[in-house]
Amino acid sequence: MRYVIIMNTLKIMVKYEPILSETTWTEIHQYFNNCRLCWAKSRLGQLYPENTILYSSEKFITIPALGSLIPGYLLMVSRQHIPCIAKVKESELAMLERELEKLLEYLKPLSDKWIVFEHGNSENFTRSSPSCIEHFHLHILPLNEKQSKLLLKYISRELGAKETINSFKKLPEYFDRNPGNYILLRNLDGAINVFTKSDIPSQYIRRVISTINESKEVWNWRIDTHADNIKLTLSKFKSTKLMKKSAYFAHAIENTNKKEIRKEIEIVSAYFSRKCPSIKLFSMFEVIDRKILKIIDSHKNEKDLLVDIELNFLKYSDMLIADISRIEWQYVGCLMEIVYAYNLGIPIIALVGDSKIQNRRWLKKHVSYYASSLENATDYINQNLLL
Ligand SMILES: [Zn+2]
Ligand SMILES: [Zn+2]
Repeated sequence: MRYVIIMNTLKIMVKYEPILSETTWTEIHQYFNNCRLCWAKSRLGQLYPENTILYSSEKFITIPALGSLIPGYLLMVSRQHIPCIAKVKESELAMLERELEKLLEYLKPLSDKWIVFEHGNSENFTRSSPSCIEHFHLHILPLNEKQSKLLLKYISRELGAKETINSFKKLPEYFDRNPGNYILLRNLDGAINVFTKSDIPSQYIRRVISTINESKEVWNWRIDTHADNIKLTLSKFKSTKLMKKSAYFAHAIENTNKKEIRKEIEIVSAYFSRKCPSIKLFSMFEVIDRKILKIIDSHKNEKDLLVDIELNFLKYSDMLIADISRIEWQYVGCLMEIVYAYNLGIPIIALVGDSKIQNRRWLKKHVSYYASSLENATDYINQNLLL
């Protein structure tokens, strides 16, 4: 009885989010040797806007942090599966430092105050290793002076002796003297503090940040992704023009000739990139190509998975462009997408041509603007949605 109650409480605590679903974990286990970050940067991981690559270079990518305790919380992830900074080749530490500097420079329109931290192990990893994920990732967060000072004070009190170095290049020498489980924290001024202690719990800094923020937010990303903050991060990238706004393009797909579909996407995309260059228009037909569809179809709950993925993309979009201009066509998917977009508060532009569908009252209630042509639609967007 008690067990049932605990299980029910857990179920309530864990918010349902596709990115944390059982299907996702199975996929990570099956295809990515249990590594969530190898999955996140893969084509399958990129089916989740929470993993949007915001910046990339030859060796690293930057994505929003799952469990974004604050908006703007990012992870700089290695393209290769290396466990942590202690395992980065000595000859590559200078390059890593340069890459980090470049990224922080790039992020200046968002903030000029970032702390960087990592929890790793300079000895060999074991499956029970307490650090968070065994794939190189630096946590990068915008904190103000007061918060960052408090963070350092708090950690110093709990973890004890630290050493301060001024460059990643000094790390090999530090790890030789202090092998084991460590926390690395780069302050706002660039000074790097390293703490080594055997019993640092998993997600330790995340717990401390929740404490000093006095937030009752769940620090555990496995329970709460803080999707609202991830969405805010993407909005900030968009408002500072570091990223394009996105338009979800809904159109006839099922029971339609593939060539014809591709042609339509091509025409609409070309038109948008000419008339609204600050918008990235995408169609789920291209995102979920044949190879991906095959993997989705192999899941036992393939309908749920497909709809979850598409709705999640819609949730992170800035507008819905729905081509419902074909006469006598049953636009089942498009009409449902329109209703979802409406409930999510996303503006809906319906391309209707001269179809009589525009006279339907239910549709009128949900659509923000009826466009008779692409020109008409892009003019409306430029005047109303890109201010
Ligand atoms: Zn990995
Ligand atoms: Zn981590």
